[in-house]
Amino acid sequence: MATLNRILGYTLRGKTYAKTGNEESKIADNFPYLANDWSKSTFESLKQNIRKHYARRQKTRCAYCRVKIAVEGYGYPIEHITCRDKKPNWMFANFNLVVSCVGCNSSKGVDNVLVNPSTHYGDYEEHCPDTGDHYRLFNPHFDNWCDHFEIEDDFFLIPKPNTKGPFTFDTCNMHRYQIILDFREQINLREQKTFRNITKRIRKEKNEDKLKQLLEAKDAILDMIENH
Ligand SMILES: [Zn+2]
Repeated sequence: MATLNRILGYTLRGKTYAKTGNEESKIADNFPYLANDWSKSTFESLKQNIRKHYARRQKTRCAYCRVKIAVEGYGYPIEHITCRDKKPNWMFANFNLVVSCVGCNSSKGVDNVLVNPSTHYGDYEEHCPDTGDHYRLFNPHFDNWCDHFEIEDDFFLIPKPNTKGPFTFDTCNMHRYQIILDFREQINLREQKTFRNITKRIRKEKNEDKLKQLLEAKDAILDMIENH
């Protein structure tokens, strides 16, 4: 269980995408936005960079349900935590961007995720709330996943009571079957004998060169697990 939590429990704290000067000017030049401006071709490379950045920081897992998302192509959306329809001018705000699975992204839709939806906040990127207490929804830029969710019996995703878990679970419809399947697959791979043996030997190995080889082998297996 500890291992599974380690895989799923990543956080984005301090890991927002740092836009280049060119990207910042592009954003400023096109301000203010309409929700559909997201599809403008001028933003294509910026969107690619954002997608790549978060896919990597999120271990190619959905920001919410933590299911494995497609590694290649564009099979996973950039997700706006506060949706573009509600806050078009926050569409490039750092704390508003993650990648998610298609399931969470489409289930979530335009639901309100802020604690005080009637608060105006403001229309500039910097007005996008920058602390977790403004959000009813789990926000990986501020919140620890393991504080809001747990895995029961090694494969049931359960929201923890009295946290953001239950609201997030309902909003993203996390009852979806593939979430459970994905966890199951992870556990099966982790239980494979090779991985266990290497881990056991790493603990005992005194020879430095051997230890280096073993650590490399372990990394290669982890890559395989993470990218399969
Ligand atoms: Zn998801």
